[in-house]
Amino acid sequence: MYDALTGRYSLACPEHGAVRVQLSSFRRLERLPGAAHPAVYRVEFDCRCGGRHPGLVADDELDWAPLGLAAGEFLNLMTDRIEDAGSELSELAARRIGAGEWPWSFFCYLEERPRPVFPSSFAVLAPAEDWLGLAVRCPACTSLSVNLVSAAHVDVPFWNDARVGVVDHVFSDDAVHTMEAFREELYSSAFDERRLLLH
Ligand SMILES: [Zn+2]
Ligand SMILES: [Zn+2]
Repeated sequence: MYDALTGRYSLACPEHGAVRVQLSSFRRLERLPGAAHPAVYRVEFDCRCGGRHPGLVADDELDWAPLGLAAGEFLNLMTDRIEDAGSELSELAARRIGAGEWPWSFFCYLEERPRPVFPSSFAVLAPAEDWLGLAVRCPACTSLSVNLVSAAHVDVPFWNDARVGVVDHVFSDDAVHTMEAFREELYSSAFDERRLLLH
């Protein structure tokens, strides 16, 4: 489902069949009621065919697969052998988290502080010129903050933008109910620049 070596999810397009999609092409994520282990998210993503399609992604695929957990096998070109990439990648991720680095972060407007986060807390992503408007449900205070970030900030674990734009108010649930409502609010909002240093 997620390929840690290319950083892409495999999802279904009615026209092309399986397509590979980066997290920054996701537009909405919504946790489905019920299933808890794993929790399942209904996502919508922008496809290379020009359409927007729904898909289902489990929480471990969203949050852990990009860190190399369950990365599976790869062909080692030096030894010409199939080897397990998972353990090496996850060890590296564990070391970095242990050293105080976080794979993803955002700036919580309500708490006025940066916080570590996992992609399953992302609610809506919308391209805005060279940036992504990213609505995040804070795992600590549950308020909805919107940051302007780079695509790498969401696609590349441990890549955290040094500074992000922060919309100067808490978003209501209504504002992220549809893409149209979110875009409208995003474009009429003012931003402050905040540093994302977590330590
Ligand atoms: Zn498509
Ligand atoms: Zn918060």
